[in-house]
Amino acid sequence: MNRTLNQPVSILKGIGEEKEKELNKIGLFTIADLLQHFPYRYENHEVLPIEELRHDDRVTVSGTIQTEPAIRFYGKKKSRMTVRLMVENILITAVFFNRAFLKNKIKRGETVTLTGKWDKYKLTITVQDFKQGSPDPTKQLEAVYSTGGNVTVKQLRRYIHSALTEYSTHIKESLPSSFLVSYKLPSRKESYTAVHRPENKEKLKHARRRLVYEELLFFQLKMQAFKRQERLSSHGRVHSFDEEKITTFINKLPFSLTNAQIRVIEEITQDLRDPLKMNRLLQGDVGSGKTVVAAIAMYAVYLSGSQSALMVPTEILAEQHYQGLKELLSNTNVKISLLTGSTKGKRKREVNASVEDGDTHIVVGTHALIQEDVAFLNLGLVITDEQHRFGVEQRRVLRDKGYEPDVLFMTATPIPRTLAITVFGDMDVSIIDELPAGRKTIETYWVKPPVLERVLRFIQKEVNNGRQAYVICPLIEESDKLDVQNAIDVHAQLQQYFSCKVGLIHGRLAAEEKEQIMEAFSTNDIQILVSTTVVEVGVNVPNATVMVIYDADRFGLSQLHQLRGRVGRGDQQSYCILLADPKGETGKERMQIMQETEDGFVLSEKDLELRGPGDFFGSKQSGLPDFKIADPVHDYRALETARQDAARLIKSKEFWTAAEYSSLRHYLDKSGVLSGQKID
Ligand code: ADP
Ligand code: MG
Repeated sequence: MNRTLNQPVSILKGIGEEKEKELNKIGLFTIADLLQHFPYRYENHEVLPIEELRHDDRVTVSGTIQTEPAIRFYGKKKSRMTVRLMVENILITAVFFNRAFLKNKIKRGETVTLTGKWDKYKLTITVQDFKQGSPDPTKQLEAVYSTGGNVTVKQLRRYIHSALTEYSTHIKESLPSSFLVSYKLPSRKESYTAVHRPENKEKLKHARRRLVYEELLFFQLKMQAFKRQERLSSHGRVHSFDEEKITTFINKLPFSLTNAQIRVIEEITQDLRDPLKMNRLLQGDVGSGKTVVAAIAMYAVYLSGSQSALMVPTEILAEQHYQGLKELLSNTNVKISLLTGSTKGKRKREVNASVEDGDTHIVVGTHALIQEDVAFLNLGLVITDEQHRFGVEQRRVLRDKGYEPDVLFMTATPIPRTLAITVFGDMDVSIIDELPAGRKTIETYWVKPPVLERVLRFIQKEVNNGRQAYVICPLIEESDKLDVQNAIDVHAQLQQYFSCKVGLIHGRLAAEEKEQIMEAFSTNDIQILVSTTVVEVGVNVPNATVMVIYDADRFGLSQLHQLRGRVGRGDQQSYCILLADPKGETGKERMQIMQETEDGFVLSEKDLELRGPGDFFGSKQSGLPDFKIADPVHDYRALETARQDAARLIKSKEFWTAAEYSSLRHYLDKSGVLSGQKID
């Protein structure tokens, strides 16, 4: 937007000091702000045939007046006026409340256009909007704006209208003409006009398409320029290591890697070799084998003479990863240490010392790992598992300590691509989209609580066969607010029911206690484990074959998928039983989908569709940017196109030099990305 458009709204006729203040309160300061205050919906004044009008809808009809208006007054101000109207050979009645002043405009034989509420049984319209003459085909769609305070939608329409009439010539094109041609997009000026005052649906559609694309392209340019800037400015390290040794290591593994694993290992080791800083997201469904990928990356860093840190969200996971890595790397000289909140006293001093003098090559732990008094001799790589549980904060802590390691984020929560490229647009993404061969599907059943007895008998049968079971509850203890199952009560009930060992684990237990219980479960000293969602991520007990989830409708699809992934880790057929009696339709739909698919990506897309992006990340602060017109979920196709276009542009020489792209460069310049400022 150029300088003219940055003038205050008060420059418009009819906006005085008072009104200006009101407009400022709702975030509208300049002409540009008004123009970019896009409608959130449209009122449809399309004239439809009488038979198609729906009862109680707001409709528009047009016809000729057949009678003199009949008026009745009630007291001084109230009145009711009726008149008969011929619309396509059907006689209807129009009713006007308290608008007797229109009497002189309503003459027999004249054509009028009326908008109001339709009564299909009485063939009556209660008029809200009256216009003499036939309908104006260019005013069928009327913009509706969000507003606040004392600013009405009608006023906004008027202000935006005059802003358009007086200033639209200053709306400069921002997209290169080649883009307009190849995507058949209307000009920027046309689009602003059409989106506020659409002549018809077709024009509106293209105007919106253009503005959405523009917004998403700019967003992607900003993200990717930022990424490029970060990579260029920070002197990432070159890790040099002997490829042969990696190959030997892979050949000695007890299994052969999947093609997807091989591909992502190649992507990651390439990043390690490059002098750029790695900032990569590794996505792979539960059980897809991310740990071995992490192990190979850390082994490569070890070979190059640096240390790695693996951070996980819980102590249980830290312990498991520690054991798992020791096993995977047992053929090597890599020294691995465990450091969590429970590492204390002498042990802690020893670990700290060995990390500091470089004896430890890989340290596994919770985020205590980077926050406390831990110093590394030479930290070259940080891997985090289940990245969305870590804040940006931890990255800053590392940087503040003077470390600029390569960073790899691993997640089993398949983030829908749409979200991944908006939220993580500044990262590279590697995806393991293939499970190791021979995995059995987990049979999933949705049952209603009255069937519980049968479910318990089924657990008994599996336990008799030497197997184990998880029982998940949404809450730890009874709550007067929520009528859902809690782990403590369920544990008590199941202890009564079963003669085998039933354990209980939840987030409020001390870390040591949790560890003991997990240990007992993994050695089959406990056969049934009642738990809250603390077992959600990463926990690996291959002998467990049953996952029962109480009040399953209280969990999101992605979370259910995570929980289900705790079984089916061994050679035995496994089962997931969802106990739920959802009241709403989406609840039922969720249970059905869980029965039908095991594809984490499909589930996450569904989750997004059913719950929206805010909920997807468990809170409304999803970190999703605010767009003025685009909706990253619904406009995901445009988003993907914009992402590819931005990537191509940023990489090309012409983008940084050719006149055609000057408006895009200008935009980037203004956004502060190029001068190394943080993006907003
Ligand atoms: P996740 O991606 O959920 O972290 P893990 O890394 O824990 O998955 O791997 C799950 C299991 O699959 C582990 O027991 C691991 O040893 C095994 N595994 C990993 N890769 C393969 C493979 N290519 N072939 C067979 N088993 C594999
Ligand atoms: Mg894992």
